[in-house]
Amino acid sequence: MTSSLTFPYAEPPVAGSATEVSPGVHWIRMPLPFALDHINLWLIEEGEGWAVVDTGFGVQATRDIWEQHFAATMGGKPITRILVTHYHPDHLGNAQWLAERFATSEGPLIPEMSLLELVTAHAVAGGTGAHQRSALAEFFRSHGLTPEQIEITANRGNTYSFGVPTRPTTCQRIIPGETIEIGGKLWNVIAGYGHTPEHLSFYCEETKVLISGDMLLPKISTNVNVWPVTALSDPVSEYVGSLQAFKYCEEDTLVLPSHGMPFRGIQARVEALETHHEARMNELYAAVSAEAKTAAELIPVLFRRQLDNHQLFFAIAEAVAHVNHGWRTGRLNRVVANDGTIRFSLRN
Ligand SMILES: [Zn+2]
Repeated sequence: MTSSLTFPYAEPPVAGSATEVSPGVHWIRMPLPFALDHINLWLIEEGEGWAVVDTGFGVQATRDIWEQHFAATMGGKPITRILVTHYHPDHLGNAQWLAERFATSEGPLIPEMSLLELVTAHAVAGGTGAHQRSALAEFFRSHGLTPEQIEITANRGNTYSFGVPTRPTTCQRIIPGETIEIGGKLWNVIAGYGHTPEHLSFYCEETKVLISGDMLLPKISTNVNVWPVTALSDPVSEYVGSLQAFKYCEEDTLVLPSHGMPFRGIQARVEALETHHEARMNELYAAVSAEAKTAAELIPVLFRRQLDNHQLFFAIAEAVAHVNHGWRTGRLNRVVANDGTIRFSLRN
């Protein structure tokens, strides 16, 4: 339900231009080479330079647009701070490139982000531990994907490194709950769980602006997911739990999401997302009431549209998130067959 949301901007900024959405906070948009289509980034005036929140997918098409901003939007001033909401490629992709591009005599800039997100970026890019392709393939197999589907998801190559070709090796750690200064204003750092290990959102009480990252989007519900590294986790509870912090934001807060249009109506959006997950869970319980099913068999219950390969990868992780939620909250049984296949059934 998005009817109670208001969208103060009719159009997004075109590539290479910017829209000032709050004093000193400029909205720019970058393309994405998959169905999500675009990402919003935020440039914040700060003294003799600019702070940027998120950096875009790490490919030439994005960097070409960055060059336009260096020349025009930024008025010859350098980027002096790089903040990153989470490790996903569209957010972290150009962090190291920008850090080197705007290096000072002390060396490259050091991005400010969650340590968990930086460590995860390296683990995913390096395919170490539970992020190995074989661990992912086995995880997908146990949750019911077919060998063909495993081939096009787990074995599709390291697409993460494609989107994040270079990564910062060090960060200035931001800890959720901290208050940090950006652009001469104080911003509260709000933790987000369920989407990535420790997503950061930034809320300025003075100007009533929330840079929500991927945690609060106007039209689509944030992907919540389970990967082998936390195979038994319940990210639906983590995500819905994280949303509660946004209820403390002022009602007329301007929400700046990573995808879609800036909006007002934060409380209505949080409530809609809570309702959305409840409804999805009820549909899932109905789907397993007659017989036990794997997470893969439940993908069509959660996603009614045709999925491309990129979307199937996230759809299975989201399906596992929902069955794990049912299991961890006592509504579903989780039964592991002799061949390792995991099925879920309604608990009586
Ligand atoms: Zn994300």
